[in-house]
Amino acid sequence: MKTSRRKFLEQAFKASAVITSAATPSILKAANTVSRTSARPEPAKTAVAALQFSQIALPYKYDALEPNIDATTMDIHYNKHHTAYIKNVNEEIAAQKITYTTEKEFFAHASKLSAKARNNGGGAWNHNFFWQIMKPNGGGAPTGKVADAINGAFGSFDKFKEAFTKEGTTRFGSGWAWLVKDSSGKLKVGSTANQDNPLMDSSDLKGTPLLALDVWEHAYYLKYQNKRPDYINNWWNVVNWDEVAKNL
Ligand code: MN
Repeated sequence: MKTSRRKFLEQAFKASAVITSAATPSILKAANTVSRTSARPEPAKTAVAALQFSQIALPYKYDALEPNIDATTMDIHYNKHHTAYIKNVNEEIAAQKITYTTEKEFFAHASKLSAKARNNGGGAWNHNFFWQIMKPNGGGAPTGKVADAINGAFGSFDKFKEAFTKEGTTRFGSGWAWLVKDSSGKLKVGSTANQDNPLMDSSDLKGTPLLALDVWEHAYYLKYQNKRPDYINNWWNVVNWDEVAKNL
């Protein structure tokens, strides 16, 4: 309880610090404009804080996904790779004075972002998503509406699994495999390069992400070395279908 209250206060403080630093110049500018052009005071504009990405708390311990994903990989992946994406995207948002206020808006303008903002923003979001669609003792086949949607789109769970696995194994170099729901409500599998994601206007694969798999070597190399197919095969044991249902 104490911890969560402190976290809330810290976040509230961060948010107010952002509002102060980001909004002060425009408020001053607006005030100057008003005083030069008109004697009538204008209503104060509401300051909206620029977007800040934050890293979710890992929903389980580092060793919770053993033996499918080893504790050292989880630790480095979360504390080094993911933390760096978060730090770097927030630095770039400040440096470039990016004014988008939501993640959705940020990614919808990915084609206009710097490489640093796009790559690290994708890395920040994708990993927050990835941690949540896994859990200890997950896996198996989905039930309920997820099963219905997958069977409807792919014919069977096995056919879906095969198609998704193929996306992960054949993505050349670094990237992600995805299950998405497109704008017409249809489920699709695909992959993206680097830290791109289906929310980006620049992505060939577009839609609402339901499930994602990180196939960067940093996600599996310590345990699996070059055997990406073995990593993917074992990853199915930790899929959190409850979370996929929430995304649907
Ligand atoms: Mn990763």
